[in-house]
Amino acid sequence: MDLGLKGKTAIVCAASKGLGKACAVNLAREGVNLTICARTAEPLEATAEEIRNAYDVNVTAIACDITSETGRNEVLKATPNPDILVNNAGGPPPGDFRDWNREDWIKALDANMLTPIELIKATVDGMIDRKFGRIVNITSGAVKAPIDILGLSNGARAGLTGFVAGIARKTVIHNVTINNLLPGPFDTDRIATVLKGQAKAQGVAYETARQNRMADNPAGRFGDPDEFGAMCAFMCSSQAGFMTGQNILLDGGAFPGVL
Ligand code: NAD
Repeated sequence: MDLGLKGKTAIVCAASKGLGKACAVNLAREGVNLTICARTAEPLEATAEEIRNAYDVNVTAIACDITSETGRNEVLKATPNPDILVNNAGGPPPGDFRDWNREDWIKALDANMLTPIELIKATVDGMIDRKFGRIVNITSGAVKAPIDILGLSNGARAGLTGFVAGIARKTVIHNVTINNLLPGPFDTDRIATVLKGQAKAQGVAYETARQNRMADNPAGRFGDPDEFGAMCAFMCSSQAGFMTGQNILLDGGAFPGVL
């Protein structure tokens, strides 16, 4: 299927590794020129070079912290008028809510709620003027099924989800859609870090914790980041103009409900 994206431009945040990278790669495969960012220059530049070598697209790499105003300004300076915005940042640490203070909450809100809102604010009106825009926010399966130890993530992402639900109905008339893509367990560095912590807490080997977690999923495995990136590319496609304000869950069937 031709997704109708050749020659479009995208900002993909937090994209040197994992799910952000998979979204960038899948958009590049469709001929989308990219501005990607991540905090550390070396892996980011390696990803940019990998994409340039594989696909005939321009890739601008900005090493920055996207949760800072300076970082966002640098990215927007490189690409002030993107057709596509993929919002992403690292997830907050797990823990007990009794241990979190105001600073911890502000950090989580900055990363997983206010940064995507700021980037939407900076880009959505241009998309409306040009009558094409696709915004995808990478959130988490925890939006639908909150996980106790991820309270910072549950709270911040719920705030973004509520905000998006409101504005997504205002932009779609201009062919600008805003949706959220919710990962369940995907095979990235992030899940490896979480599993290492779980293995230690349970006193089992890392590989045992990994196998147990996969066995818990109806699919019997973790998601491949490329499966996530492919869904992101479809949500950005010209064919997806009638879908807005949705929370699309990719979790191998782990969420047991019907809605
Ligand atoms: P990852 O650790 O594999 O990759 C994170 C990427 O984000 C890296 O490129 C890193 O450099 C970049 N990054 C992190 N913080 C940044 C910042 N402040 N500014 C710029 N770049 C930044 O993580 P992932 O698995 O791809 O997860 C992406 C998002 O999805 C996270 O918010 C995570 O919490 C969420 N998530 C992941 C899973 C999963 O199973 N992988 C499940 C649920 C939610």
